[in-house]
Amino acid sequence: MNRRGELDAIVVGAGAIGSALALGLARDGFDVALIETRAPKPWRADDDVDLRVVALASDARDLFEDLGVWSAIFAARIGPYRRMRVWDASAPGELDFDAADDGHAALGWIVENKLIQHALWQGVAAEHGVRVVCPAEVSAVANGEEHVEVTLADGTRLHTRVLLAADGAESPVRAMLGIDCGGRDYAQRAVVAHVATARPHEDTAWQRFLPGGPLAFLPLADGRSSIVWSLPDGEAARMLALDDAAFRAELGCAFDFRLGEITATTARAAFPLRMRLAKKYVSGRAVLAGDAAHVVHPLAGQGMNLGFRDVASLRGVLRDARARGSDIGAAHVLRRYERERRSENALAARGLDAIERLFGANDPLTPTLRGAGLAIVDRVAPLKQWFASIAAGRS
Ligand SMILES: Cc1cc2nc3c(=O)[nH]c(=O)nc-3n(C[C@H](O)[C@H](O)[C@H](O)COP(=O)(O)OP(=O)(O)OC[C@H]3O[C@@H](n4cnc5c(N)ncnc54)[C@H](O)[C@@H]3O)c2cc1C
Repeated sequence: MNRRGELDAIVVGAGAIGSALALGLARDGFDVALIETRAPKPWRADDDVDLRVVALASDARDLFEDLGVWSAIFAARIGPYRRMRVWDASAPGELDFDAADDGHAALGWIVENKLIQHALWQGVAAEHGVRVVCPAEVSAVANGEEHVEVTLADGTRLHTRVLLAADGAESPVRAMLGIDCGGRDYAQRAVVAHVATARPHEDTAWQRFLPGGPLAFLPLADGRSSIVWSLPDGEAARMLALDDAAFRAELGCAFDFRLGEITATTARAAFPLRMRLAKKYVSGRAVLAGDAAHVVHPLAGQGMNLGFRDVASLRGVLRDARARGSDIGAAHVLRRYERERRSENALAARGLDAIERLFGANDPLTPTLRGAGLAIVDRVAPLKQWFASIAAGRS
């Protein structure tokens, strides 16, 4: 804290993005507070694999290495995926990405959300530069000339040069700042579960496009696959209500029995799907990051990866400002972050939205188009490399 009692940065939200941001900024020598309503549940090796997993790209791995949490995550429970196979239920053609084609050992890693949060939370707890304020809730934000005043529900007031809102898709801080969002409700839910299959997953992330939405099988370290099945709301509710045997039969059929019969399943859960894009990322001395700024369709496993790129960008921008002797909360400093990230995030969200519309369309022409599209991308080496590098976070 400086002589005037101001912190350099307050991060709101200790999800994956807020925790990585707080830890990274503290490592960079900034004086940081991290405010969170509830501490993440601890990850334990003898608990079953968390139902929420993410496909982490290689630049997220680089960030974790820099933050000193990668070795703990890697030693715990992590499934590399070396290939990706994408095909369509209504058209011929198939995309096949192989890490070896690019000289890499893996395209990415399947990791439990709970494990990522746990490792980052442990990192934050061990870092002197972060003051953790938890449980606590932000109830008001006042953007001033010199600093931001953050009021907590218990009346505590904190002052900071810059406020970083990483408080998730519903972001209360975004609402307090009066920042609007555009987007689209997909009227879909993603049904998730872990399943065992008759044949091994071959360290491959599989995705089949179906008229109701894409179905992904992601390879877990224990040999099972984690499924993410995007379905219209009513169908998702029906899938949740089926008994295990009926669910396994419907799932096997929807997946074209690519890995044989589904031999076992865990309980299921479902998450509503929407696209959301904040109209701006900066308001005075406050900025948005992660799902508070952008929510994308999960069909290419990009949401959290985009958030980690926000973290890398913000760290760079704030470090450069300090090195130049600038105010880290000055408008021109924070706008550089907005320029670096908003267009890439919007492009990703709209690109995924376009893919979702193309593959979800029911008219008779589009299956031919998309079948041809998949076949062309698979055959044209530069196009395929471009898609593979985006998916693996090497763009
Ligand atoms: C089915 C599904 C599959 C997905 N798969 C992938 C994938 O494979 N790869 C990928 O990259 N992404 C994936 N995603 C997206 C990814 O899960 C999200 O992008 C990511 O979890 C967002 O993290 P976050 O830290 O921004 O937000 P959150 O995880 O929502 O964290 C926000 C935090 O803020 C706290 N908070 C909220 N309000 C306040 C307040 N007023 N005061 C204090 N704290 C507050 C909350 O308690 C929470 O801890 C998927 C999403 C879904 C739905």
